[in-house]
Amino acid sequence: MNRPRPPHRSEPSPSPPPSPAAPPSPPPGPAPAPVPGTGAEATAADREWLERAIALSWKCPPSQTAFSVGAIVVDVRGAVVTDGYSRRDDPHDHAEEAALRAVDPGDPRLVGATVYSSLEPCTRRASRVRSCTRLILDTRISRVVFAWREPEIFVNGEGAEELRLAGRTVVEVPDLAHRVREVNEHLLR
Ligand SMILES: [Zn+2]
Repeated sequence: MNRPRPPHRSEPSPSPPPSPAAPPSPPPGPAPAPVPGTGAEATAADREWLERAIALSWKCPPSQTAFSVGAIVVDVRGAVVTDGYSRRDDPHDHAEEAALRAVDPGDPRLVGATVYSSLEPCTRRASRVRSCTRLILDTRISRVVFAWREPEIFVNGEGAEELRLAGRTVVEVPDLAHRVREVNEHLLR
């Protein structure tokens, strides 16, 4: 005679209630992008983007005659439109030039955008018709944030002044300049 089997347990054991001290879990997906500032002062988000531009400059192929620079263009909502670094596609490339090559100057994402460059945008080029300042002025980028004012080693730059005269907001973050000098130390000896 068959003995009755024990009843099959289909109900899962109840999970313990969540601890009231548990922190809320972070939302899924990447952290929200920092939204660029809008004024003449650097915000925490501006500093974060500028640090990313400086980090990008470490990717530059080394040169004994030109600075290593990184540039990132960020739209008003905090999305990267384009980025670039010195000598990325061509031995004469400047960072802003390499970045802006990838977008149409009339691209609507550039309206009100901020360009973060580790170095002040140049105003004169030996090897190009248009300086980086000119390339920026040919777009509707409204704000330029940089860390290091171009030292008078190769050319005397006046990018900040030229951009301001053209009505763009220029933000200098000199306390991050040492990080840019670090990348270019071999040129400064
Ligand atoms: Zn340039």
